[in-house]
Amino acid sequence: MGLISSIMVRLLRAQPFEMQALDTLAESMKATSILKKDRFHRYYKSSILPIPCLAYSDALVFNSNYYQILSDDEVLAIGAHEFNHIAKKHIAKRLPRTVLPAAVLAVVIGYMFFINSVSFLFIASAMVLSFLFFLFGSYYVNAKWFRKQETESDLSAVEFVNGAAMISALARLGPQKTSWLSKLIPHTHPTIEQRIHNIQVVMSTKNSFNFTITFGDGTSKQQIN
Ligand SMILES: [Zn+2]
Repeated sequence: MGLISSIMVRLLRAQPFEMQALDTLAESMKATSILKKDRFHRYYKSSILPIPCLAYSDALVFNSNYYQILSDDEVLAIGAHEFNHIAKKHIAKRLPRTVLPAAVLAVVIGYMFFINSVSFLFIASAMVLSFLFFLFGSYYVNAKWFRKQETESDLSAVEFVNGAAMISALARLGPQKTSWLSKLIPHTHPTIEQRIHNIQVVMSTKNSFNFTITFGDGTSKQQIN
């Protein structure tokens, strides 16, 4: 994994930065694999990253335009979401369901062309194309499972950081694109509205829970929303 993240950091021309508050958060969320590198090579900003934030087991890459508009609390909220992915090893768990089956199927396709003795160049291009095709397909097949991991990461993040900051960080992502292309690609994340709604539900039950604990003597029927 370390190799993949360092290649990606180079490809994305990402600039490192250090942040003690993120380190402390990673520690308390048990995302300890990110703390293995020295503190100057854990968090990065990239102006060409096409998504808001990318997580590897040992690195986080923020889109620098997005990072720039975030408050400190919002950076921690996004960090907490990514740290849950790292702590629960979501990235590693995704490989056997995405890259691996696509690679196996591409090899099978390549073998079928091989036994029919077509040219090497044809076999190689058929394998690359079928790998990309099956990889894309696997994102469709697993989209619901991906969305579950995203919801889990949002909800576990608000146990550690300010829920309101999580909501405002998500709201800054703005309305989602509704082009035909965005409708075509697999939906690996719930919509921003769904994510904000889920966080609000958890925050309101958390408040009522605290209230019940504090005043659990017959006045607990009152609600804090
Ligand atoms: Zn995520």
